[in-house]
Amino acid sequence: MAFAELLKNDAVLKKAYDFAKKAHNRQTRASGEPYFNHPLSAATTIAEEWNFQDPATLAAAFLHDVAEDTEYKIIDIKKEFGEEVAFLVDGVTKLGRVKYRGGESKIENMRKFILAISQDTRVLLIKLADRLHNMRTLQYLPPQKQKRIALETTEIYAPLAYRLGMFRISGELADLAFPYIYPQEQKWLMENVKDKFEERENYAKRVTPIITDELSKNNVPLIEIDYRAKRYASLYNKLLKHEMNLDRIYDLVAIRAIVPTVEDCYAALGIIHKNWQPLPNRIKDYIALPKINGYQSLHTTVFGPESKIMEIQIRTPEMHQVAENGIAAHWAYQNKKEATAAPTKETSWIQKLRNWQSKNIEDLKIDFLKDRIMALTPKGEVIDLPQGATPVDFAYSIHSEIGNHCIGARVNGRIAPLETQLKSGDLIEILIQKNKLPSGAWLSFVKTRHAKDHIRACLRQKKMGLLGHEVTNTELKLIAEDRIGLLHDVTNVIARSHINIVSHQSGFSNKFKVMKLVCNVTDKNKIEKLITKIKTIKGVRSIEHHFV
Ligand code: MN
Repeated sequence: MAFAELLKNDAVLKKAYDFAKKAHNRQTRASGEPYFNHPLSAATTIAEEWNFQDPATLAAAFLHDVAEDTEYKIIDIKKEFGEEVAFLVDGVTKLGRVKYRGGESKIENMRKFILAISQDTRVLLIKLADRLHNMRTLQYLPPQKQKRIALETTEIYAPLAYRLGMFRISGELADLAFPYIYPQEQKWLMENVKDKFEERENYAKRVTPIITDELSKNNVPLIEIDYRAKRYASLYNKLLKHEMNLDRIYDLVAIRAIVPTVEDCYAALGIIHKNWQPLPNRIKDYIALPKINGYQSLHTTVFGPESKIMEIQIRTPEMHQVAENGIAAHWAYQNKKEATAAPTKETSWIQKLRNWQSKNIEDLKIDFLKDRIMALTPKGEVIDLPQGATPVDFAYSIHSEIGNHCIGARVNGRIAPLETQLKSGDLIEILIQKNKLPSGAWLSFVKTRHAKDHIRACLRQKKMGLLGHEVTNTELKLIAEDRIGLLHDVTNVIARSHINIVSHQSGFSNKFKVMKLVCNVTDKNKIEKLITKIKTIKGVRSIEHHFV
């Protein structure tokens, strides 16, 4: 159904359309156009480009920026549109808070965060549609933002889309990001690749039915035929492996035919070669000689219609499964064929996502990562914690000093008790006070070993009369009658106690010499013994100490 028609027929959808339009009424995009064009575009992408017409998803797509950017909150959406739509909008809002900051471990955490929030895959679907429109309009943002968002798209969203089997979306996202990350390389590609992406895609679209006709005329059954033009981002990666020599790239246009049997594969190859002249040395028989990873297919490169070079891959459905999902898919396929066992878990959710028109939305839910919590710092960094973790665990994960001086926390903007159990997507702000120290009561609710160890260490030091574990030095203040050799005697005693002097200052107060010695020691017993010894030095009148 066309999206316009769907809008007309679905009252809730129409209501979401009107609600979002009104909520964003006065706002504009960086491009100057009305803000509502953005959620409208996201919803249209999902409904028309991806042909996923679940009303709740489309309503949430309309409303996806309402909670973050307008006066309305999730609670208002729940009131107007119910639990399901509010849940989806809340998920997309939470995803919007995480920000790419570079660094491999951070990227990994960010991916985990997104997967934890996207327990319901529809959340991710809306986020990808949102990102797609943002990438298509990225030219209006300031350069620094462009770069960060482009990197986030390449490092996070394109791989996630790929992993979910959304290959086309993944490729488009990577391609939209590429010029912002590699402007020079993009310029080079635009100058040197003869046929632009769109032209190549049109060509592939034109020749696919011609090949289909030839095969059917010759009675080769065809299960599926597919085409693609190579994207600039993936072309660039391939060129890096081929000394940037474009003449060595043969798959700028590629067609893939899936036929029932191995015999059909060879028959199809023969028909293709009869019609279009193959390039020498480009025929690869990975059926007779599979790749090490189990990959099988026939590959050939031919001068296709209009004498343009294109690559053709021919394989059976089983080989296709292996190529797309890895060798594990082979077993899943075998099992499915024999109907003896369920496919492996991973393959089954990839499958379901691929057929996402499936009515059984519940089945789309991803149930991994369920024992981890992905919480966010105010800067959008992801902190990975175990289930049941509290703001105190969060504080210690950031830094032991933040944990030790933590006095309170804001969870999603509201003051919350330190024993609150965090949820994935919570944004946590830790309140600290420099002179405060951990309480023993924390040990009863913290979840992480890391927090427990630090709290115990800090409590031990507190017991010994130390202020905090950052104390490493003690300042000794001596008052003594001045004499030749006084300083020598004092430093000698300290040295013999195996204590290092960090700094030394002296001056006079009336007739007395005042010495301040900062020593690298915090052990109470050691300090007491040292003081006793110093007091026996001739002329010393008094000695005080404090931790610094
Ligand atoms: Mn948005």
